Amino acid sequence: MKKIAIIGSTGSIGTQTLDVAREQGDLEILALSCGGNITLMEKQMREFSPKLVAVWKEEDAAELKTKTADLNIPIMCGMEGLIAVATYPEAEILVTAIVGMLGIVPTIEAIKAGKTIALANKETLVTAGHIIMPLAKEYNVPILPVDSEHSAIFQSLNGEQGNKISKILLTASGGPFRGRKLEELQNIQVEDALKHPNWSMGRKITIDSSTLVNKGLEVMEAKWLFGVDLDQIQVVVHPQSVIHSAVEYEDGAVIAQLGTPDMRLPIQYALYYPNRRPLSGDRMNLFALKNLTFEEPDLKTFRGLALAYEAMKKGGNIPTAFNAANEKAVALFLDRKIKYLEIPEIIQASMEHCSFIADPNVEQILATEQEAYDFISSRW
Ligand code: NDP
Repeated sequence: MKKIAIIGSTGSIGTQTLDVAREQGDLEILALSCGGNITLMEKQMREFSPKLVAVWKEEDAAELKTKTADLNIPIMCGMEGLIAVATYPEAEILVTAIVGMLGIVPTIEAIKAGKTIALANKETLVTAGHIIMPLAKEYNVPILPVDSEHSAIFQSLNGEQGNKISKILLTASGGPFRGRKLEELQNIQVEDALKHPNWSMGRKITIDSSTLVNKGLEVMEAKWLFGVDLDQIQVVVHPQSVIHSAVEYEDGAVIAQLGTPDMRLPIQYALYYPNRRPLSGDRMNLFALKNLTFEEPDLKTFRGLALAYEAMKKGGNIPTAFNAANEKAVALFLDRKIKYLEIPEIIQASMEHCSFIADPNVEQILATEQEAYDFISSRW
């Protein structure tokens, strides 16, 4: 039995991790955490019998305790609870399925406790990659990517240790507005942006896919995970989402991972690495596919991606400003308080507003997040 803990078990990645556990039958779920969805957490507790649970707010923890009094499972709250789940003593692997920069501190503590990290929470690397990657090296802890593109790159790097990478080809579906021009995005509504052509994901990441901000975050994540220069990462728009990403080596060979879009595959690959396991679901049928097409990203229309490259080039705490501003802007858009095209405007203004710190520590990263939030609240 592999023993795992999950932070963010009630979200899209978290529930799919539990789907994998259900299907495989040999993963022991030791600790779980969520934000406020205690109804789902109660179901997960009854099904998987974890030894520890954490929810964010104290009052939710109290309510969940009452509802699950018959189970005798300890329930903690706040950052203390998140860290306790992330570092649960007998767990071997931590799945970071939480959303946002809240993932940084528990991930750091889990690395220090020697846990293998199955990393979905890309914000951790985007904002604190310069802290996380050296720390993982110091503690000899593997960081296994869960994001489908990064898993594809990781799989394409298998057995190639020591061989020189020329380029990473990071594929993007292009989202629901691929091919449109800026004028055509003026009146995009929440419902339009939530329609992802290929992947079923959480609301925030679905909006990020439509703006290409998600691809920008993935470029930053790839830079940290694979230790390449920014100009070695080429985003390739590939609407069919069949090639999940590829690596070009110095001899011109391109190795890619292909398959039907299903997040359970990269989750399962990270949990059982280096082994593969059977997985139910559709298989790729090359004859049915007929055409695979590729385009360059339109950086003028989808400014989120251009701003991500700019943020990463500036470095320091600017990727944090980028990420925090995007989180706030997406929340405002989902609440119908701003227009779709204000998302990149808010990101750019926040990147310009936040005071530059070249080598931020965790406190400074979190302070930059707050600086961006305060700036946005004062203006929008
Ligand atoms: P969701 O929004 O679906 O889930 C987020 C999880 O975090 C939920 O369990 C949520 O709990 C929890 N959470 C939210 N706020 C808090 C809080 N204050 N304290 C504790 N827990 C909290 O996100 P996704 O699953 O879509 O994404 C998770 C991460 O994985 C993100 O970083 C995303 O970028 C990345 N990712 C996602 C992919 C996908 O297909 N969805 C693909 C690749 C990467 P609750 O439900 O109780 O609010």
